[in-house]
Amino acid sequence: MPKPSTNMSTRATTLKPSTSTEGEGDNAEAEHEHEEEHEHEHSGSDPHVWFSPASVQGWVNNIEQTLRHADPSNADTYAARASAYREELHHLDTWISEQVALVPPDRRKLVTDHTAFGYFAHRYGFEQVGAVVPGFSTMAEPSAQELAQLEDAIRAHQVPAIFVGTTVNPSLSERVAGDTGTRLVMLYTGSLSEAGGPADTYLKLMGYDTQAIVTALTSAGNG
Ligand SMILES: [Zn+2]
Repeated sequence: MPKPSTNMSTRATTLKPSTSTEGEGDNAEAEHEHEEEHEHEHSGSDPHVWFSPASVQGWVNNIEQTLRHADPSNADTYAARASAYREELHHLDTWISEQVALVPPDRRKLVTDHTAFGYFAHRYGFEQVGAVVPGFSTMAEPSAQELAQLEDAIRAHQVPAIFVGTTVNPSLSERVAGDTGTRLVMLYTGSLSEAGGPADTYLKLMGYDTQAIVTALTSAGNG
C-alpha cells in the first residue's frame, strides 16, 4: 500500500494510523477527507451546532461519559479534562458575546455562502439575512430568482460583507458580491485550518471567525 503523500494533512495521518482492520486504507481515508473539504452536504436539521460553544458543552459531557465507561480506571482524568474544556468553552462564549457587543445592533446581519450560522445567530443576536445557497447544504443550486432576491435583501439591509467558508466554492458568492458591491470575507465553517494555521483547533476557529465577522461588520464603509 502506498504511503500517504506528504501534502496530506497531519490531522488525517495522526488520527488514522494505517490499520487494515477497517477495510479502508490510508488512501481511501485521505480521499474521503478530501471530498468532505469540497462537498459539504447536510439534510434535515441544521448540523452546525459547533457555532454555539454553549451547545458544544453537551458534546463534551457525552464524550466524557463515553470515555469513563470505556476506561473506568482513568475516570478522574477524563472528568478533570472535560471540566477544564467546559471552562474554556464558557470563556469562549463570554468572549464572543463581548466581541459581538462591539457591533451596533442594526449591523448584526449575516449573509453567508450557505445557512451555517443559525446557532451562532440565535446565541449572539444576529439576523441571518440570507445565504447564497439557501438551506443547510452547500450542494443545492439557487435559482436566478433566489439570487436576485438575495441581492435585493443585501441592498435593503446594507449588508457590507458576504461570509464564505474555506470549504465551499466561492464563485456564486463572488458574483453576488460583485453585483451588490459587498466584499467576501473568508471564514472557517466546515473544516479547521492546517496545523499551525489560524484555526487549527476548535477554540481558535471560533476566535478567528468571530473576529472576522466583528471586524467586517464594524468597519463597514457603507454609510
Ligand atoms: Zn455547512
